[in-house]
Amino acid sequence: MSRRIGVYGGSFNPIHNGHIHILRQFIAQLGLDQVLVIPDRTPPHKPAPDLAPGEDRFHMCRLATADIPGVMVSDMELNRTGKSYTADTLLELKKQYPADRLILLMGEDMFCTVDHWYHPEVLFSCAALAAAPREESMSEEIQNQLYSLQQRGVESYICPIPFLPVSSTQIRDLCREGADISGLVPPAVEAYMREKHLYGL
Ligand code: ATP
Repeated sequence: MSRRIGVYGGSFNPIHNGHIHILRQFIAQLGLDQVLVIPDRTPPHKPAPDLAPGEDRFHMCRLATADIPGVMVSDMELNRTGKSYTADTLLELKKQYPADRLILLMGEDMFCTVDHWYHPEVLFSCAALAAAPREESMSEEIQNQLYSLQQRGVESYICPIPFLPVSSTQIRDLCREGADISGLVPPAVEAYMREKHLYGL
């Protein structure tokens, strides 16, 4: 039987409660059987001066998702040489899971940029797209993007997930200032960050 597999990529620098929140909601709302959380090697679309080592980001993803059934953290992009592109990842996953439906999970900020990613037509042929809100109310830009993708026959959704205003940038900034980050990342992730002195801790 064909399964529904979520593919959730990101820098996860570090993984935070916003990521975990949307992950759980995506699983429930889209009826996902499995999700692959895939930390990226070099984010092609954004500069990352304070990117923690891939090994640490991978480990934090495992700690943060250990109690969510069906979630696996993959090092397939971290092990790649050169830039890591989602199109390459999806082609690889399509070979690995030929009978299953892949659903690419992302925040609305990313959803609005997919047409500018590396080989978007590959993305669209390999996977459906699902987005989570990253603002309190849905902007016109996002609605237009949903409409435009659907007009082109790309199966895409915006899931009604309550917005949790957390970002990795905010957490890195708070760490540098020595401010409290409890409540923004899972306790095991905070402990790991402190142990490894990540982000100036
Ligand atoms: P940074 O602040 O470093 O840009 P980030 O918090 O956006 O990082 P990423 O690892 O880049 O984290 O995000 C991975 C994916 O999760 C992206 O698709 C992003 O849109 C989404 N995402 C991150 N935080 C949230 C949030 N609070 N709500 C909804 N989606 C989110």
